Amino acid sequence: MSSDNLACPSTSDLRTQPVAALDKEGIGPAMTSIPMIACSTSLSEHHSGGSGTNKNKQMVEQLQRYGLISSKKVVEVMETIDRALFVPDGTPAYVDSPMAIGYNATISAPHMHATCLQLLEENLQPGMHALDVGSGTGYLTACFATMVGPQGRAIGVEHIPELVASSIKNIEKSAAASLLKGGSLSVHAGDGREGWPEHAPYDAIHVGAAAPEIPQPLIDQLKPGGRMVIPVGKIFQDLQVVDKNLDGSVSIRSETAVRYVPLTSRDAQLT
Ligand code: SAH
Repeated sequence: MSSDNLACPSTSDLRTQPVAALDKEGIGPAMTSIPMIACSTSLSEHHSGGSGTNKNKQMVEQLQRYGLISSKKVVEVMETIDRALFVPDGTPAYVDSPMAIGYNATISAPHMHATCLQLLEENLQPGMHALDVGSGTGYLTACFATMVGPQGRAIGVEHIPELVASSIKNIEKSAAASLLKGGSLSVHAGDGREGWPEHAPYDAIHVGAAAPEIPQPLIDQLKPGGRMVIPVGKIFQDLQVVDKNLDGSVSIRSETAVRYVPLTSRDAQLT
């Protein structure tokens, strides 16, 4: 079902929607969170003729209004990296829903990108190292690179080579292009369950696909003081926050229930 087919609820309906209903990633049918941005986007398209950048800004404002972003830095980076450059042509860019990107993969919903950026914010300071496993469209890799800056390092690892190629093209069109050119941002084809040892240890690791259990190489490549955000589970999944303590031990907590595509082998994903 396309979220564009949903009727727009009135503003008062939207305000009363429980935030819990907005928590799920959703790879299947639309959720109650979708119309709020779908409506505002189509309104801006029909009435104001605003530029993509303006519509992206409006999307970020909506997420703030609904309490889904509270961090100024996350607002800044999501305003800087225009989501429309990362979705396939003809796909609505500013709707709060995951969208198919081919190869049985999706770009995550804006509120999930916001949630993960917020959870990792302290570990995405200038100069830090970030790893984005299952980088898909490259959207979050571009956000990470922007936050850690040219002295930092943002690595995307994706196992579908075609997605690696298209994500590089997406990033080249975005505000993170100079970081890609300068070498502080790179995207690689590989099995993300092995991490990317070359630039380890990482202050921040994000996993964009659900693992049956947390891959040990990713824990090993987390810096003491570092944080990993990873969806874990098969049908029922939790977004887990894994903090590596300074003594090397790890603390794990569940942030929220989510629904992501699986972190798996390329063959399993494509069949
Ligand atoms: N954060 C990305 C999410 C893409 S969906 C975005 O918003 O664009 C999850 C991605 O994980 C898919 O692109 C899928 O191909 C990739 N993936 C799944 N298993 C993987 C693995 N073992 N190694 C690397 N990438 C994997």
